[in-house]
Amino acid sequence: MTVPRIQLNDGHSIPQLGFGVFKVDPAETERIVSEALEVGYRHLDTARIYGNEEGVGRAIAASGIPREELFITTKLWNDDQGAQRTRDAFDASLERLGLEYVDLYLIHWPSPARDLYVESWREFAELRSSGRVRSIGVSNFLVPHLERLLEETEVVPAVDQIELHPAHQQPATAAFAEEHGIAIEAWGPLGQGKYPLFELPEVAEAAAAHGRTPAQVVIRWHLQRGHILFPKSSSRARMVENFEVFDFELSEGEMQAITALEREGRVSAHPDEVN
Ligand code: NDP
Repeated sequence: MTVPRIQLNDGHSIPQLGFGVFKVDPAETERIVSEALEVGYRHLDTARIYGNEEGVGRAIAASGIPREELFITTKLWNDDQGAQRTRDAFDASLERLGLEYVDLYLIHWPSPARDLYVESWREFAELRSSGRVRSIGVSNFLVPHLERLLEETEVVPAVDQIELHPAHQQPATAAFAEEHGIAIEAWGPLGQGKYPLFELPEVAEAAAAHGRTPAQVVIRWHLQRGHILFPKSSSRARMVENFEVFDFELSEGEMQAITALEREGRVSAHPDEVN
């Protein structure tokens, strides 16, 4: 199965569908990520705060998959913002992952109360120049945070990873990102199981029409919208289900009906409140 790639604004490209490991128990991570790699996922999304970078690294090492076939993302946690702390935190993440470089490093949240994300962003540009990070980006940045980065540094993030699913599509951030060539990564693409997406008639009807599951329909909606996504599952059967999404297509009408489900249905915290 060849997963389509999305071209980033820095010349690199990223597999559009990956596997996320938020809330994957560190003790189980190596096994679960190994299964995801066996299923065919080649793009992994972790973070220092998930506490499972070591397990991700062990699964990568055990897989024998050539490094260049993998796309690995990790993230800087809020209390590591600031120039020196960013450098140290990056070194520590790289070591825990057992890698020589990561494909994508993200500022996890803007953490406006700290007011250090611009400083960290300058350091990210240095890390990219060092070659130990291929692409740099941000997460949970809203338009004012992105505007400030662009005004103060002129370094455009390759991606913005934001909560995004049919009930919470963040149109203002998505439009700003598109205008500036920033790719959108959708976290919580299935609503984290907290928003009842799968029961909505628009989703359920499309699933029935295609003989697919509601989760596959939601993933397909993301793919056709051009989002990068990495649904998480601890179940091998659901890993497979979430990967078998490249042999059917939602119609224009089905896409429009699901896009009309926008409800400002945020399932997690507002970025200005996470510090
Ligand atoms: P998701 O929207 O991917 O939902 C995961 C939940 O859905 C789990 O409870 C999982 O249960 C369930 N699930 C997965 N597949 C299916 C399926 N086919 N049918 C029914 N239920 C299913 O939420 P996440 O928060 O995990 O988001 C994905 C990734 O995004 C994260 O793992 C992380 O990498 C990233 N993320 C980034 C954030 C940020 O601030 N930058 C914040 C949150 C997430 P089960 O495991 O039992 O299958």
